[in-house]
Amino acid sequence: MESSDIQTDVVVVGAGMAGLVAGVHAAKLGLKALVLEQSEAEKYLCNSRYTGGTMHVALCDIMLDEAQLVQAIEKATQGFVRPELARLFAAEGRRVVRWLQDEGARFMKASASAYHNWVLAPPGRVRPGLDWEGRAGDVLLRLLEASLTKYGGTLARGTRALSLIAEQGVCTGVEALRQGERIRVRAGAVVIADGGFQGDPELVGQFISRHPDRIKQRGAGTGRGDGLRMAQAQGAALVGTDRFYGHVLSRDALTNEQLWPYPYLDALVTAGIVVDQAGKRFADEGAGGVFVANMIAQLPDPLSAWVVFDHASWEGPGRNGLIPANPHLPKVGGTLHQAQDLGALARAAGIDPHVLAGTVASYNDALAGARTDQLTPPRGERKAKPQAIATAPFYAAPLCAGITYTMGGIAVDSDARALDATGAPLPGLYAVGASTGGLEGGPAVGYVGGLVKCGVTALRAAEHVAASVRKA
Ligand SMILES: Cc1cc2nc3c(=O)[nH]c(=O)nc-3n(C[C@H](O)[C@H](O)[C@H](O)COP(=O)(O)OP(=O)(O)OC[C@H]3O[C@@H](n4cnc5c(N)ncnc54)[C@H](O)[C@@H]3O)c2cc1C
Repeated sequence: MESSDIQTDVVVVGAGMAGLVAGVHAAKLGLKALVLEQSEAEKYLCNSRYTGGTMHVALCDIMLDEAQLVQAIEKATQGFVRPELARLFAAEGRRVVRWLQDEGARFMKASASAYHNWVLAPPGRVRPGLDWEGRAGDVLLRLLEASLTKYGGTLARGTRALSLIAEQGVCTGVEALRQGERIRVRAGAVVIADGGFQGDPELVGQFISRHPDRIKQRGAGTGRGDGLRMAQAQGAALVGTDRFYGHVLSRDALTNEQLWPYPYLDALVTAGIVVDQAGKRFADEGAGGVFVANMIAQLPDPLSAWVVFDHASWEGPGRNGLIPANPHLPKVGGTLHQAQDLGALARAAGIDPHVLAGTVASYNDALAGARTDQLTPPRGERKAKPQAIATAPFYAAPLCAGITYTMGGIAVDSDARALDATGAPLPGLYAVGASTGGLEGGPAVGYVGGLVKCGVTALRAAEHVAASVRKA
């Protein structure tokens, strides 16, 4: 061992919720836990710092009966999820809430919806733009850092993991950069918790969109795929890397800080139609805002999408949600064209008026004849019923895809062990939180929940590491 080598039982890469829960739980189980965080800042930014804090499973109450939650996960992912992961998250989500409460986290009911039954307190205020300081995730991270120290673990800021150390096929540590110096951390196990790869243009370009620069980061953007690259270099399999969790934002969010992460325009998108600059529909709006955001990212030009809807939708679905587009979008300066007829609306948006008129007429006809499944592309009702575009004034808003976190990543089993291409665990290597794949995504872009994914994988990883280190 060299002088710059550090010896520990478990080293965790990344100090978001997933990394800190893994570190705290491992320390509680008697292990020497070291958590590395690339940022030096006291309140280092990450998606867990920004989180809205809603603990849910596939948009359902996390305390719901296990069988119902399995069904909800399967429905959301339309069969993409591996059955053992669906069962795991349905069974163990509630344990995460109880575990966090034991560490001092407070939860509250934030709205009448069952989805909001377990929200980290205090939640973000009801206003556009970012609002994290002293709120849900910020409070949680500070609490978890204090717990880590209390149980004898260490959080090392300003330390970026670069690569894994492996001996005879077993992962035994990481190489990292600390204040310009390369250090080696030797450990019984490595837990990757770097938050995904949404912040890395190269990987986003490879998996998600040909134009990563035309996608808005709807989070901290600190997940740069380091963990994915390190794990892949050791033979880990990747799964579901083509999908992301995010929302449809106003295109002005690229330059206006008041327009992300809220308000998002999903409710308008799922009520009306989304068209490209030529005026043609390109996605099933009924599959939901997360799905449409993914389809926008895949367009030849992701900055060419528009949502078109009528006054009834603006006054109806447009007002849905905690921070709805109506009235917040125009209030904070988001572009919203409005016109008494579709021709004038199309001209204001630079869309071909004839093509848009044809698209709207076919859509309205299909809706009136209950034939929306015959449209190209078909319009379903999985997340929302279509509304006619019939009542003036008509509206159009320019869109962009907002990426919050990548849904896919390192393939893991139900103990959060990284798997190789044959499905066998890679000894000594674990992945937790948004760095993992296999639970969310697939053709339906199924969303199960970022926080529950952190908590369940982190508790499982820590328990498996503790059992393995004790055996060794
Ligand atoms: C605005 C917003 C609202 C959200 N609301 C909800 C919600 O209500 N409910 C829900 O379930 N989910 C929500 N999410 C998603 C959820 O917050 C995230 O999925 C979750 O916090 C991810 O946690 P993580 O620990 O995996 O990653 P992160 O919190 O991103 O943490 C990863 C950490 O790893 C560090 N890191 C990266 N690379 C390295 C490296 N090489 N070496 C060392 N450190 C490294 C990063 O700096 C970062 O601190 C929301 C996200 C956002 C942005």
